[in-house]
Amino acid sequence: MKENLIFLGAPGSGKGTQSAKLVEANGYEHVSTGNLLRAEIQKETELGKKVKEVMANGQLVSDELVVELLKANLELKSTSYIFDGYPRNIKQAKTLEGILNDYPYTAVYFKIDTEKMVERLTNRRMTKDGKHIYNLKTNPPKQEGICDVTGEKLIQRKDDTEEVVRSRMEVFNSTMGEVVDYYSSKNKLVEVDADQPMQQVYDAIIKKIKQ
Ligand code: AMP
Repeated sequence: MKENLIFLGAPGSGKGTQSAKLVEANGYEHVSTGNLLRAEIQKETELGKKVKEVMANGQLVSDELVVELLKANLELKSTSYIFDGYPRNIKQAKTLEGILNDYPYTAVYFKIDTEKMVERLTNRRMTKDGKHIYNLKTNPPKQEGICDVTGEKLIQRKDDTEEVVRSRMEVFNSTMGEVVDYYSSKNKLVEVDADQPMQQVYDAIIKKIKQ
């Protein structure tokens, strides 16, 4: 079985887009805590109600709530995952270490310029489930506002407005340094330059991971 991948990178650094390519071409399963949380909000579950406002403000949901949701959606014995959006802080990184136990993994850090990220995120559009992601400037759908793959209407995430994006960046900058250092000290970290075009980022990832 392939190693699991842990994608680390600021919002908008292309983790979701690259995950979609790797799922399609390389047979990984994508697990995004952001997508799982948004699904709870859509279904109006108790959990969804609890996290709605925190997410709308770009703050982090409590570690306990996120880890339960994550665990409920993992089948590590039979699947190689891409973890997208988890871990977000050092505590979550240590929790994930326990969850993965002896399952092998590589952490991939998507390095990107912050101003470019704001531009990427405010131009980002996607399907409701977050599986198909476009950028109005660099990767627009063939027909305006419509997904090329599913034909459904594209949406803008509520937290992709400039104000909320800036606060998400602040959260990222204050919590992720430690996480990157953690994987680096374990010799589990590879870095890719995420400022490059999509295909080049993909090629760089493929080169750096064990398949
Ligand atoms: P994302 O789709 O990864 O950008 O996540 C969107 C939002 O979901 C974040 O701004 C947080 O509010 C919440 N979230 C996602 N993953 C986590 C996590 N691992 N820990 C805490 N909150 C999270």
